[in-house]
Amino acid sequence: MPLVSMRQLLDEAAKGGYGVGAFNVNNMEQIQAIMEAARETRSPVIIQASRGARAYSQDKFLYHLMLAASELYPEIPLVMHLDHGNSFETCKSAIDLGFTSVMMDGSLQEDGKTPATFAENVAVTRKVVQLAHDCGVTVEGEIGVLGGIEDGHGAGGTGLEHVTDPNQAVEFVEQTGVDALAIAIGTSHGAYKFSKKPDGSVLKMDVLVAIHKRLPNVHLVMHGSSSVPKELQDVINQYGGKLKPTWGVPVEEIQLGIRNGVRKINVDTDNRLAITGAIRKVFVETPEKFDPRDYMKPAREAMKKVVAQRMTQFGQAGHAGDYAPIPIAEMKKRYASEAVAAK
Ligand SMILES: [Zn+2]
Repeated sequence: MPLVSMRQLLDEAAKGGYGVGAFNVNNMEQIQAIMEAARETRSPVIIQASRGARAYSQDKFLYHLMLAASELYPEIPLVMHLDHGNSFETCKSAIDLGFTSVMMDGSLQEDGKTPATFAENVAVTRKVVQLAHDCGVTVEGEIGVLGGIEDGHGAGGTGLEHVTDPNQAVEFVEQTGVDALAIAIGTSHGAYKFSKKPDGSVLKMDVLVAIHKRLPNVHLVMHGSSSVPKELQDVINQYGGKLKPTWGVPVEEIQLGIRNGVRKINVDTDNRLAITGAIRKVFVETPEKFDPRDYMKPAREAMKKVVAQRMTQFGQAGHAGDYAPIPIAEMKKRYASEAVAAK
């Protein structure tokens, strides 16, 4: 199966009332872990690469690994998505390379740190939407600013400084034509999201529900949605790691989100924790080993387990065979006729 448009995956998820995990990758083993989990659970899947991942891997390597994945797992609808594009040029380079979906994060300026104005965000996002839709590619935008910093991208803070205003969300979607909308509801990137189990004072699920009421047909995206389970932290610390106690977004809150229009859930930290714990365990228990496969194999297996669990919890499991992929060329035509209809 060729790489698929994210718009189609999310439209199908909306019909079926489930969410789709979007997992970050930097290398072959992470892609393999996700594809094995998708096969085991029969899940459609979004694999995403940040700017940091593209730089780390030289993104052509990642792209060809993704093509290999689509050949080796032909039964799995698979999207290649750019996570947190910081400019028109970054998004364009991803589209030129063959990504089937891009995020234009215009909530921050091009430096990836300074919050942008609403007008700046609309202007750059609209420009990306025009280019992307001309190519049949999906666009995710962001309104409101997430907390934390990851791969040098982020405004820092707790995530509560710039919670999305539902009225602005409506205006933003009308003015940009994005396919999916990332919202800020108190989550942050990275492992240290919350210093205790989050409640309504820090995780603004009421804002999410309000946005969904105003925009019932827009696919909402939750960023910074690793659950940071204690078991994964414990493995790392048991084998010599030094993680401070931390809390992520509980799975039941994500499931509440899915019942209220969330269709894409970004998960990275949980997989990083699983990989690191598995590698530490091998290093501590068998320090005589030096073949990278001796620790990369269990690392890949540990990540696969986490991904398969999330796929089941988000509800995407069992849906891989529900639909035939719409070719990107056909998506292009659809966007063109929508644009005509809108005039
Ligand atoms: Zn994010």
